[in-house]
Amino acid sequence: MENTGGCMCGKTRYKVTGEPVGGVFYCHCNDCKRQAGSAFTIGAGFLAENFVFEDDSHVKTYVTVGDTGTNMDRVFCGNCGSPMFSKTSLIPGVLYVKAGSLDDASWVEPPVEIYTKDKLKCAEIPSDITRFEALMPME
Ligand SMILES: [Zn+2]
Ligand SMILES: [Zn+2]
Repeated sequence: MENTGGCMCGKTRYKVTGEPVGGVFYCHCNDCKRQAGSAFTIGAGFLAENFVFEDDSHVKTYVTVGDTGTNMDRVFCGNCGSPMFSKTSLIPGVLYVKAGSLDDASWVEPPVEIYTKDKLKCAEIPSDITRFEALMPME
């Protein structure tokens, strides 16, 4: 399995090979919400040794501290701010790609959600709401 991905401005691009390891999950933690500016993020674990940036000249890391007191490296494009992956020394050798950065995330179906203690009501999307394939029609 080979996945490519990148940021919004296109200056930061990556390739990651191999099957996901360490889980594919929704994360509802407050730090992920802040970083994404959204209700949750989706992480997909891969071996760090299988991940390579095509160009890392804009890559930046912001370090947060998780509840266990362990550092979480939050790696993003310093030009446009798009998150690329997170990595913690709790789980050495694995990084968690932000699924929204993948070029093709159609295979992503997380079987797990974590940090539901911080989960927002709006993160549960009711199946009976009105849906539009693209923009909401203007009147
Ligand atoms: Zn960028
Ligand atoms: Zn999180």
